[in-house]
Amino acid sequence: MSKVQLCQGVGCTEAAKLQCPTCLKQNISGSFFCSQGCFKKNWSTHKLVHQPALVAEKTYIPKFSYTGTLRAIYPLSPKRQVPLHIERPDYADNPQGISMSEKAEKNSTSIKVLDKEEIERMRTVCKLAREVLDIGAATIKPGVTTDEIDRVIHEAIIERDSYPSPLNYFEFPKSVCTSVNEAICHGIPDRRELVEGDIINLDVSVYHKGFHGDLNETYPVGIIDEESSKLIRTAKECLDKAIECVRPGFLYRDLGAVIEKNAKANNCSVVRTYCGHGVHRLFHCAPNVPHYTKNKAVGTMKSGHCFTIEPMINLGTWRDRHWSDNWTAVTEDGRRSAQFEHTLLVTETGVEILTAGKNERRFIPDPNAESNNYPQNNV
Ligand SMILES: [Zn+2]
Ligand SMILES: [Zn+2]
Repeated sequence: MSKVQLCQGVGCTEAAKLQCPTCLKQNISGSFFCSQGCFKKNWSTHKLVHQPALVAEKTYIPKFSYTGTLRAIYPLSPKRQVPLHIERPDYADNPQGISMSEKAEKNSTSIKVLDKEEIERMRTVCKLAREVLDIGAATIKPGVTTDEIDRVIHEAIIERDSYPSPLNYFEFPKSVCTSVNEAICHGIPDRRELVEGDIINLDVSVYHKGFHGDLNETYPVGIIDEESSKLIRTAKECLDKAIECVRPGFLYRDLGAVIEKNAKANNCSVVRTYCGHGVHRLFHCAPNVPHYTKNKAVGTMKSGHCFTIEPMINLGTWRDRHWSDNWTAVTEDGRRSAQFEHTLLVTETGVEILTAGKNERRFIPDPNAESNNYPQNNV
């Protein structure tokens, strides 16, 4: 059964033959006109129904191909600013968000050994990143938008005289990645409100005095189902078990087997597209740290190496897809995904977790090491 749609032009009773293209892009329903002429005549009043931020910024709303129930809620809020007295990474003002210093190292597999002063800088930025993540996490509750979490995190970073590393990195539009439910990583904060039962990953990266610190955690929103709790526990366990292997002489490629074994034992799968990475003066560099078994990663751990481990663990398939915002990675089957990440420093005798939380061990000694004079843990 179809009803003839009439033109909305003032005083016009013709049948409608076209729809306003801006309204279509913005998902505003029912903007019908009989002809281009009538549309033009009514433009000055009609255009008021368009969302102003979008018109001003000529923002294109991508046509998303969703795999689950999560939806992007546009328009995004305007780009947040970073005061100019704060030191910025080289991509902050590049039109495509390209980091020239990273590009220069793109194909290098050589892993930087940090000196004493560089290690101190990493300790400082990672401590700041941890504080910021905890502040962001404290805002999580039903009804809060991911954009509001982005605002809180952005301001906490600026208060610490730091730059939010994701902002403008390859044109990422926000200051933190917020990945909800089936989103694996790189979710863009938008106007969607968190709902009781959701899970959300906050991936915080901070740039302070020339160095990046990077960590993430997945949190429940209110009360979540048992399957989701188990997924979160499994993802954290995968990270913890991998960290226990970190010491001089361990091969980067052998971390994946430890992670995948634990994921499989809990009926979960491991994402293959995204890996851990070197992090220090560059946001992402060598080593590449895959989280799956039988990978071909290059490199042996040495005291002074700084890198992340950040396994993404799925309830269903390991396969991922992308939304057409060019960022949000989601599971192909729409089932949930959880992730945890730390920035780590290989020490003479094991590993220092630079982004450790209040209730986590900071130093994990190599069980095979002879040395007894190991630094004290903070718990
Ligand atoms: Zn991260
Ligand atoms: Zn990372």
